Amino acid sequence: MRLKVWLNCLFLVLIAYFGYWVYHSRFFEKNPPKVRLMVQIGSEEKEVQEGDNFWNPHRDMVVYMSDESGIRSYSIVVKDDQGRVLAQKQEAIIKRPEHIKVALPKPDIQLKDDDRVIYEISVNDWSNSHFFSGNTTRLNFNFTIDTQSPIVRMVATSYKISYGGSALLIFKINDKSTKEVRVSNGEDHFKAYPFLKEGYYALIIAWPIKNKIFAGNITAIDKAWNVKKVAIPIIKDPNVRYRYSDIKVTDQFLNTKLDNLVNIIGERSTNSFSSSLEKFKYINEYIRAKDENVITGVTQSVEYPGYLKPMNFNVFLPLKKFQVVGSFGDHRTYLYRDRKFSQSMHLGLDIANFKNAPIMTSNAGRVLFTGLLGVYGNTTIIDHGFGLASLYSHQSSFEVKPGDWVNVHSEIGRTGQTGWAFGDHLHLGILVQGQMARVAEWMDAKWIKTNITDVFMRAQNIIQNSED
Ligand SMILES: [Zn+2]
Repeated sequence: MRLKVWLNCLFLVLIAYFGYWVYHSRFFEKNPPKVRLMVQIGSEEKEVQEGDNFWNPHRDMVVYMSDESGIRSYSIVVKDDQGRVLAQKQEAIIKRPEHIKVALPKPDIQLKDDDRVIYEISVNDWSNSHFFSGNTTRLNFNFTIDTQSPIVRMVATSYKISYGGSALLIFKINDKSTKEVRVSNGEDHFKAYPFLKEGYYALIIAWPIKNKIFAGNITAIDKAWNVKKVAIPIIKDPNVRYRYSDIKVTDQFLNTKLDNLVNIIGERSTNSFSSSLEKFKYINEYIRAKDENVITGVTQSVEYPGYLKPMNFNVFLPLKKFQVVGSFGDHRTYLYRDRKFSQSMHLGLDIANFKNAPIMTSNAGRVLFTGLLGVYGNTTIIDHGFGLASLYSHQSSFEVKPGDWVNVHSEIGRTGQTGWAFGDHLHLGILVQGQMARVAEWMDAKWIKTNITDVFMRAQNIIQNSED
């Protein structure tokens, strides 16, 4: 009698254990196979999302299927939009592979642009769930055939771009499914902003002095991964000369100003350096690069919704009267006892008036940043639209805060000598999508009219009079 009870108990435990095993084992798993459709772009593969897509049939596509209990069968059917089967591929697989890769069958008929084809993919696994019929994944992809590469047509550009300078580009992309537009100066990437109406783009591009050449190009990619890359047709003027200055650093300088700055930065203690020259390099190279990363990050994060309209930019004249005390693009080499030990690029224009002079805006905009940077000191950055930003450094005080909208002729703060500055002055920078550009152009009314305002007007006329 006791034995019978004991056997019953054992039986129940076994049943429970079997149930647990059935429920959790991969032989009864309930996860449908993972199926991914990938299109081959050169040596890369990009995933195609379910639903409506564009496809150039010259591009191959592959289906990746994976499942923990193994792939049992798959079926790929290609239909036209009338439901007629154009091609199909089916397979039952006994080996229970966990992963397989199948090339997508292509219809035998010649597909023309704007034809539509539907791919129905169904994949079944070796699980015994669903009364031993396994788990099934079904995916549908609707493709519109598109074999045409985008056409890039320039609408209007500045007459030329100078070494260190800026230019305005306005162009049109003809394509039924533009996916991405990339603009580059050969080194740095720029966003193209949708302009006035569908298909048109505008941007200000820069040729930073760190780049010896300007190899501007526009790349348009459509949703069928057709790619068109064109060179930017603009005259390049490499003959702009920038200064090279040698600056002798004295013991007196090394022993006074540096410690104060290291303490303000507050990242390292003044006695953690093995020499004053190391301290100098730390500020001039490491902290400067860190500051410039902050400035680039802030100015490159700007986005504008919708279509942009032509803009009028005024000359940037932040001080009422001023003297230039440091030139843009100055390549500075620092010498100690006649030995070169550090260098830097001066990427703004230094101007000075009286002490604590008011800094005035010349263009409306949105304040992106106010704060203390190591080399740049108290700094304000204002976005003016089209990726153009102005930067004001070494301020003694602030009058605005991030997020504020500022009008023309508003005071944003006072000049000073915070950061790496000797004497009260203003360091004025102009940034084009994060690249420091030649300030002189943006202080020259004639340059702005010829290269920006007139180009906007020309483009606007062309676009408003165009049929499409
Ligand atoms: Zn400066």
